Amino acid sequence: MENFEFQKYRDDLAQKITQEPDHTKRREILSLEKMTPEYQEAKKLRRLEFGSEKNKNDNDQLISYAEEHYGEYKIFTDELRDLINTIVANRNEFETVTKANIPEELLNQILDFCEGMPNEQIESLLNRANFNYENLLAGEVDEYTKAKLITEAVLKAKSYDLAVEENRGKEIDFIGFEKDQDIPDAKDFIYQTFSRGLLEKCLISKIDYNADKVNVALNGTDYVLPIEIYSDWQKIMPGVKNHKYRAESMVLWNTDPKFSKKFIPTPIRFFSFYGEEPNKLDYLKDVLDEKKMRQYKLGTIAHEVAHHIYEYLIDADKRNNWKEIVDRSGSITNYAQAYKNHNFKYDEFFTEAVRLKTTVPDYLERNFPEINQFITDNFPEIQAPIL
Ligand SMILES: [Zn+2]
Repeated sequence: MENFEFQKYRDDLAQKITQEPDHTKRREILSLEKMTPEYQEAKKLRRLEFGSEKNKNDNDQLISYAEEHYGEYKIFTDELRDLINTIVANRNEFETVTKANIPEELLNQILDFCEGMPNEQIESLLNRANFNYENLLAGEVDEYTKAKLITEAVLKAKSYDLAVEENRGKEIDFIGFEKDQDIPDAKDFIYQTFSRGLLEKCLISKIDYNADKVNVALNGTDYVLPIEIYSDWQKIMPGVKNHKYRAESMVLWNTDPKFSKKFIPTPIRFFSFYGEEPNKLDYLKDVLDEKKMRQYKLGTIAHEVAHHIYEYLIDADKRNNWKEIVDRSGSITNYAQAYKNHNFKYDEFFTEAVRLKTTVPDYLERNFPEINQFITDNFPEIQAPIL
């Protein structure tokens, strides 16, 4: 029952009822109607509408409480500002230098390609960037716009190879992990799990862990609070825990074609795991109780790294294959399940699959053999390490 117009349905029903003069008959119409799927659907949609209004009110309450009490914990770091400045500078350079100096041969190839001449190299660059050139070329826009968009996409895709080249031999900085007794060896874990070569392609500048701070994101603003302050807040307003973020990666800043025009290494940040309950996770049930939190934290780091793999290294063809596999498999974790109807469903299924592959590989192999096979086939480097 897609796009069911529940308001119109209710109006029609109300009209039908009021047109009936006999009260008993009115009641009859309604009770018959109540048994129809349309009535049930309308009722459900009405409930959802009230639900989202309630959520909005809860959010407004959280936002004004945060503004009033936690203003001093609002953060906009120098690091974030530098990152934005770099992206803006790269955009300017792209417009004034990169596009102006495009080699003539490449430009001719692109123009031929736009006119229908197949070109394997251009196709593979655009596929890797998940740029849907087929739709663009078949679409209504004028030839100039087509050529412009394809040129920009090709230049940006090429910048990925340059960024990886520049990143070769560089190690990812791990900061703050020594403070957490569960995972002081997080760096060894990540390097053994993903391999040096694969990590270089992930373009991660550093992995920063704020073990004793909780990050609450409200309406685009980050509040980074000491655990005690956060826990007081949660006592008064339990809903705040739905806005608590354990991790943050900037990977989409790189891939968004409207925002960034050039690939650069970006950081990943982690915050306190306060309030997390790994003992409730089904996939950790065979892990010793005292090891559950460690496996959960390591898995969360692997999950964030995997976002970079999904964005940069799974091209359009592989992505189609992955989507088919996901659509016929069940939800691999409750976390992934929460994204079931979300734009990022396939991203989150992949990153959760990598979490399982690197921390509970037997569980993944036993329960989701096809998903396990996809990772093994495409990224044989990814292995649970023996620590
Ligand atoms: Zn994720």
